[in-house]
Amino acid sequence: MAIFLLELPYAEDVLSPHISAKTLDFHYGKHHRAYVEKLNGLIEGTELAKETLGNIIKKTAKDTSKSAIFNNAAQVWNHAFYWQSMKPGGGGPPVGAIEKKIKAAFGSFEKFAEEFKNAGLTQFGSGWAWLVIKEGKLEIMRTANADTPFAHGLTPLLTVDVWEHAYYLDYQNRRGDYLDTFIKHLINWDFVNSRLD
Ligand code: MN
Repeated sequence: MAIFLLELPYAEDVLSPHISAKTLDFHYGKHHRAYVEKLNGLIEGTELAKETLGNIIKKTAKDTSKSAIFNNAAQVWNHAFYWQSMKPGGGGPPVGAIEKKIKAAFGSFEKFAEEFKNAGLTQFGSGWAWLVIKEGKLEIMRTANADTPFAHGLTPLLTVDVWEHAYYLDYQNRRGDYLDTFIKHLINWDFVNSRLD
């Protein structure tokens, strides 16, 4: 197998009650795993089998004939990034180096939270909301389906998965409540700070 399923950085029950063990069991154990397995099947015996995940994403991002490979590779990457974007006892106002940067870019944490939630809420259908560095500046953006800022030369700092499979078992159709909870209780600012270095 060329690409491995990275281990979850925590046990499946530690984000509860915000994200249940059942959601993580399905989301990591079924969805994330399936992207890894599909990707390995698609690249087996091809030139891409020798490449890193990052290179596979970059090499297939603009090639529509390889969209299945891109979609699965980008989903493998996005999910690994999403798990690290959360931690038990996380969320709330930022700490460390990111605090000043958020204030400078958005005016306040509240304003950042509002814009980040809005990015997730207004992503029509499946996708992701992101905090990224674009040309040296913090920016909030959303991507559709598997797309990832990393494929477009941007530096992701934080992401939240807004595919229904990320929240439906716990929140049903209440994507806004899931996003509020992510911001209040789950964001791993230590990870965001580590990305700044
Ligand atoms: Mn997902």
